[in-house]
Amino acid sequence: MSKRDYYEVLGVSRDADIKEIKKAYRRLAKKYHPDLNKNDPDAAEKFKEVREAYEVLSDPDKRARYDQFGHAGVGEDGGFGGFGNFGGFGDFGQTDFGFDDIFDMFFGGSSRRHRGPTRGADLQYNLEITFEEAAFGTKKDLHIPRTETCPKCNGTGAKPGTGLKTCPKCNGRGTIQFAQQTPLGRFVQTRTCDECGGSGQKIETPCPECYGRGQVRRERTITVNIPAGVDTGSKLRLSGEGEAGERGGPPGDLYVRIQVKPHKIFKRRGNDIICEIPISIVQAALGDEIEVPTLNGRAKFTIPAGTQPGTSFRLRGKGIPHLNGYGRGDQYVKVKVVVPTKLNNKQKELLKKFAEISGEEINPEQKTFFEKVKEVFGV
Ligand SMILES: [Zn+2]
Ligand SMILES: [Zn+2]
Repeated sequence: MSKRDYYEVLGVSRDADIKEIKKAYRRLAKKYHPDLNKNDPDAAEKFKEVREAYEVLSDPDKRARYDQFGHAGVGEDGGFGGFGNFGGFGDFGQTDFGFDDIFDMFFGGSSRRHRGPTRGADLQYNLEITFEEAAFGTKKDLHIPRTETCPKCNGTGAKPGTGLKTCPKCNGRGTIQFAQQTPLGRFVQTRTCDECGGSGQKIETPCPECYGRGQVRRERTITVNIPAGVDTGSKLRLSGEGEAGERGGPPGDLYVRIQVKPHKIFKRRGNDIICEIPISIVQAALGDEIEVPTLNGRAKFTIPAGTQPGTSFRLRGKGIPHLNGYGRGDQYVKVKVVVPTKLNNKQKELLKKFAEISGEEINPEQKTFFEKVKEVFGV
């Protein structure tokens, strides 16, 4: 996962001050806001990127860490190899500044901060498994770092036994009124109090476990049953195993994305498997019983006399089980006829003898070919 440089994302220089950063964010957030780009699937992604860059660069602590250590220095989902966080972009409350004041005026308040229950973000875990594990299914223990509801305060963020106090900013109303002069006239706006998120109340003493956030970071071990028949790109959804929801919202889901390692001898095409087997020209000409590797071990297979290079034979039901549990694919054995490159004198003699005995006799395929050549050149 390669991440773009946060300064590059916002299009500001590395010594940009907070004003420039805010300005850049304001401009880009409006440009890529998902509500305004419903037909552009990339917009939501860009919007998220912009917001993430802003969250880091607008926070002096995080910015300092980012400047020193890069992406690894910030963000809790940065250093877990193959581990990503995606999903919800609805919550503006995470940034310390809202552009919704101007925004609401022109776009009907579609981006109003919401402080109600928010569903937790989905998580994706990229899991690499072997070819055999994909074919027969397996059980895996995954270590998932995720946000969970704080067990000490049950997500309230308040130290157990302590209460709530009236929000000093809005005096308990939950909203703040302010007037703004615009080219279109004077607007009086009412907006949700950013201090208390609209509840009108604030925590008296923050919970010591989660520092008032209501959530904690935990690494969980989750056992996942991988069904037989999965392939690269298969996604398993573990409902409710993602990040915890906020303010009583439901948790997100965990998606396990499967990546199957290549096999030394088998290739996969859907539920069929293919393997190429080298045989000698003698075996191809005379036929032979050979040993064929299958997913269930070695099997005997008889090559008929006169087998041509590249011929595929089908072993019915020796492929990969269907994901739905019914039946299996087939195995194709593709014959690769190996022509010897180093012959000793005795072998050469015998082959010449073979040619002599065969005489002028040309096989039907060769005959048709040379007739075509004659047609092309007119001789
Ligand atoms: Zn807590
Ligand atoms: Zn308030």
